[in-house]
Amino acid sequence: MTISLSPDPVGPDPVGPDPVGPVPRRDDAEDFAIWPASARSAADGDATVGGVSLAEAADRFGTPVYLLDEDEVRERCRTYRAAFPDADIVYAAKAFLSRAVAHWVREEGLGLDVCSAGELGLAVATGFPPERIVMHGNAKSPDDLRAAVRLGVGRIVVDSASEIARLAAIVPPDSRQQIMVRVVPGIAAGGHTAVRTGTDDQKFGLSIADGSAQHAVARILGQPRLELVGIHCHIGSQIATVKPYVAAVRRMVGLLARVRDQHGVELPQLDIGGGHAIAYRPGERPLPVGILAGRVRAELEDGCARARLPVPRLTLEPGRAVIGPAGVAVYRVLAVKRTGERTFVAVDGGMSDNPRPALYGVRYTPRLIGRRSAAAPGLVTVVGRHCEAGDVLADGVPLPGDVRPGDLLAVPAAGAYHLSMASGYNLVGRPPVIAVAQGRARVLIRRESLDDMSRRDIGL
Ligand SMILES: *Cc1c(COP(=O)(O)O)cnc(C)c1O
Repeated sequence: MTISLSPDPVGPDPVGPDPVGPVPRRDDAEDFAIWPASARSAADGDATVGGVSLAEAADRFGTPVYLLDEDEVRERCRTYRAAFPDADIVYAAKAFLSRAVAHWVREEGLGLDVCSAGELGLAVATGFPPERIVMHGNAKSPDDLRAAVRLGVGRIVVDSASEIARLAAIVPPDSRQQIMVRVVPGIAAGGHTAVRTGTDDQKFGLSIADGSAQHAVARILGQPRLELVGIHCHIGSQIATVKPYVAAVRRMVGLLARVRDQHGVELPQLDIGGGHAIAYRPGERPLPVGILAGRVRAELEDGCARARLPVPRLTLEPGRAVIGPAGVAVYRVLAVKRTGERTFVAVDGGMSDNPRPALYGVRYTPRLIGRRSAAAPGLVTVVGRHCEAGDVLADGVPLPGDVRPGDLLAVPAAGAYHLSMASGYNLVGRPPVIAVAQGRARVLIRRESLDDMSRRDIGL
């Protein structure tokens, strides 16, 4: 049976505001509510993030450009560690990974979730301790699994029955690989059907309801080279309320008790995934992490006491909530088109650097920067430059009525699932990523050139 718990990801949260959320800012608080905590307005309509002027960054690095506020990322890592002092916090690399980001999260004491040999290789090559890495994926290739075992990743999360035998064959005879089983707890939650992964009608995990999770547990326990350390679930993404997590913990503890009853094994770990919502538009509420911590801990302790189980060590896997609010994209306006009913403002990026609007229909809140305007605001549609009608960044957002080509638009909440999902569509080339902190800007990833792209095109 599936319980539907989070129909409205932006609706009122009965549990109130987040006690461990960022401290309200002194100035600009309302204007910059969904920006990095360091965001400030500056002279002549400019804004700064990490002490770096967005207009200057646009001039210096070109547009589109992505800025990543290092202190914001680090502070978010610390918030999780403080809220869950006894848990492993594992950053989900697929939200955005670069060598610098791997260093930041490692220095803040987090682990890393990867889902390919590529993400794994990048992390290990830059010095990330493999034992703090968790490998995921609904369809890991033999290469992915071999790389994971060879490089010594801490835990591999098994997502299908066929993976069990494959893994057992890869692990050398004299060693053991720690394993978790990805379980479908039957909880519907998440901001869009494409990111709801807690129910039986999607591709991830092994179902409790039909017994395949229990079957996988039994098979792994029968493999001497595989050490089953716990069970895992990830119920979805952009989940704004605590309830689905509490419900998932209850179901997972139920499964831990059944494993104990059937096999006499008390599994020491429980991984409840990530999926914590952030605010993309003013008025939206992030998942309150401090309240999540309290409720999850209470449910876990009560449930384990009732089932007479030892409390397992928790793992959480936030991706978006660590990196999303730290990113700001800056675009330049290329065209303004006024039709009968609408004003379209077209910018020099779009779905090749941020496919989320086209994939999930999400919308953002761009802000004019770099000049002051006294013009009355009008509602506009901000579109990308790509050859798809779904390439829409914002709909019905207010911008000054005199918005014109050459203007700069900044888009907050741009740190997660933009560049990690970027494509080569229209051969526009992916934008650079610039780290900003304490008034300094440094290039993490340079702009992709035509030369980069044509280098792979080797046939004629
Ligand atoms: C994507 C994913 C996450 C992170 O999700 P966010 O919404 O970015 O927090 C964590 N765990 C697993 C298994 C995932 O697939």
